[in-house]
Amino acid sequence: MECELMQRAWIISIGTELTLGQSLDTNGAWLARELAALGVRAERHVTVPDELQPITAVALAAAASGEIVLITGGLGPTDDDLTRQALADAADTHLELDSAALEQIRAYFASRGREMPERNHSQAMSPVGGRLLANRCGTAPGVFVEICGTPCFAMPGVPFEMKAMFAEQVVPAIRAARQQKPAAAVAVAEDADSGEAVLLSRIVRTYGLPEAEIGERLRDLMVRGRNPEVGTTADMGEIGVRINAAAASGASATDMLDAEEREIRNRLGKAVYGIDSDTLAGAVGQRLIERGRTLCVAESCTGGLLGMLLTETPGSSQYFLGGEIAYSNEVKQRRLAVKSGTVAVHGAVSQAVASEMAAGARAAFGATYALSITGIAGPGGGTPQKPVGLVYIGLATPEGVRVREIRMGDQSPRGVIRQWAARTALNLLRMELG
Ligand code: AMP
Ligand code: MG
Repeated sequence: MECELMQRAWIISIGTELTLGQSLDTNGAWLARELAALGVRAERHVTVPDELQPITAVALAAAASGEIVLITGGLGPTDDDLTRQALADAADTHLELDSAALEQIRAYFASRGREMPERNHSQAMSPVGGRLLANRCGTAPGVFVEICGTPCFAMPGVPFEMKAMFAEQVVPAIRAARQQKPAAAVAVAEDADSGEAVLLSRIVRTYGLPEAEIGERLRDLMVRGRNPEVGTTADMGEIGVRINAAAASGASATDMLDAEEREIRNRLGKAVYGIDSDTLAGAVGQRLIERGRTLCVAESCTGGLLGMLLTETPGSSQYFLGGEIAYSNEVKQRRLAVKSGTVAVHGAVSQAVASEMAAGARAAFGATYALSITGIAGPGGGTPQKPVGLVYIGLATPEGVRVREIRMGDQSPRGVIRQWAARTALNLLRMELG
């Protein structure tokens, strides 16, 4: 989505591991989202290997086209860390020692009981005319320099160091620069409202409705060119409805998001379990806390994944008692009281075994609810009657046990089948809890 009022930025990610596809540029994605909320549109993402000339060339192109340039990576102490030199070259200047920064790096090592290796000296070199940005979380200071009048901020590649530096030093600098030189964005925004032009986003999280059904119910909201813009993303049974709202101020964009979220909730009903970083496991946990109930799990083909998802939520010990990873038939029988006759007659992947696993876990753990999962995650082990992707999910409650059968298709990868099964189990309990 474009917003005429927004400033334009280029994001440059530096690292040969990124250009070769050995690791993902998560910094670029994170920065683009943060910039949008600040009223800055990321109009280019460029990934460059650890080579001096290409970095210099991209920095020059970015400074010529964009209004702000953000760079991550290549600020370490080794020979493949070339961002400082490339920025000095692009700004047509040279590097000189910043002795205060050198002292900070020495102090960083001293606070960990170590002496600074000589190599780290290079990290205190700053382009003349620019300045270094202190790094609270690591050794690599960031770099600020103007190239052809365009502000360029270089931050470390390590994501948590980059995030802290962006929030603490780059955001205030962007805001301060705006106040000094009112750009078109600010002038228009001030006419319309107080604040800055922004693009704010929210994800309404759903489970249980197919994407096509959601698309049908939200059809008029999803028309291209509409503001707010609405689109869906699908991820192993979870459908996220993303709302982007462009407005002249953060307050009016938030109002637009609130109104759109209300409308989407009305249309999708109980399929909606939360927004943004909310998780299915968290939604289940909240309901269990509200009702003072407890939960345990019995997992075969998910091997503990359901327990992991549940315990990712801080405070889950209030309701989650524990679980049994009952991978072998013997463990299913010995620890969950699954009858050997049930396994012999129906097979380990069956409605009957899922039912006994859930009932057995509920009794063994003394929980209000038990969820069980048994299925064929593949890639081998499928038969025409019981293909890869067939999973049974049991839910034992004080009223009894019921089992849901799901078929994910024998072409689904093992990881997808396991994730999908665990999420479906969580959703089954969420719906039970109302
Ligand atoms: P660097 O500052 O280039 O030495 O990067 C240090 C580490 O940060 C790398 O080894 C990666 O693990 C990580 N990193 C660098 N760039 C990125 C990026 N764009 N996205 C995510 N992680 C990154
Ligand atoms: Mg690197």
